Amino acid sequence: MLCTLNDVLPRARKLHYAVTAFDFVGDFYARAILDVCEEKRAPVILSALPPDLEGRSLYYMTGIVRGVAKAYSIPIVLHLDHAEDFAVIKRAIEHGFTSVMFDGSHLPLTENIRVTREVSIYAHARGVAVEAELGFVAGNDMDGNDQGSGRLTDPKEVEEFVAKTEVDALAVSIGTAHGVYRSRPVLDLGRLAEIMAVTAVPLVLHGGSGTPEDQLGQAIEGGITKLNIYADMRLAMNSAAAKVATVVEKRQDELPDRVLAPFYQALREEAEKKLVLTRSLNRY
Ligand SMILES: [Zn+2]
Repeated sequence: MLCTLNDVLPRARKLHYAVTAFDFVGDFYARAILDVCEEKRAPVILSALPPDLEGRSLYYMTGIVRGVAKAYSIPIVLHLDHAEDFAVIKRAIEHGFTSVMFDGSHLPLTENIRVTREVSIYAHARGVAVEAELGFVAGNDMDGNDQGSGRLTDPKEVEEFVAKTEVDALAVSIGTAHGVYRSRPVLDLGRLAEIMAVTAVPLVLHGGSGTPEDQLGQAIEGGITKLNIYADMRLAMNSAAAKVATVVEKRQDELPDRVLAPFYQALREEAEKKLVLTRSLNRY
């Protein structure tokens, strides 16, 4: 069943677990994630990044999720991840995304507030939830390039930001990074506690992949209600490539579902690990 961030995150905050947000790129990817979430009774957020929605891709990605959502009874959020362009947000909403992230983390604070507020007004009028980012979670961009240093979220800015923008979820920067880590991160859990103390809005952690599990557990304990995962799913899928090669070696004209099966299995297994980590099993 398709729903918005508002249907799943406040409940997660109350019950001290997080909803896993998986970036997805196509049908078997979505299916691996949705199948395991349904089996484990876990709510899920399927996120898509703007580069994966260009041209007809937007039709495919929304068509897949909106088409199959009725075959699942768990809550499924179709979420736009890291949109910096209002036009992309409008197009995504038009095509049926139920939640959007406006990422103004690269903007000066007043400008981030101004645009995020505009996005909120536009999205809320259409029943769509909004996530924004305060501070900057750095790491690698989609091509693996270093995004430079991050900027931790200043707890003193949170109350004003949330009040003025009326966002439904807030991504905070407390020491994680996007992509694969070069050195072991240390999360600033004290900062998270300070942020929690000043806002009731559900908090989001980007760059969940590769973050030490004990620290992620503490962050969820400390109030994170949406955990973003992408790199770990890519690593899991790519690690299955050798198995796929073996399948094709045995029979050159092997059936497509058998060729894709190792990828599907690897994605399922990795997704299940994340559901355990976010404590989102058996919630529905
Ligand atoms: Zn992110």
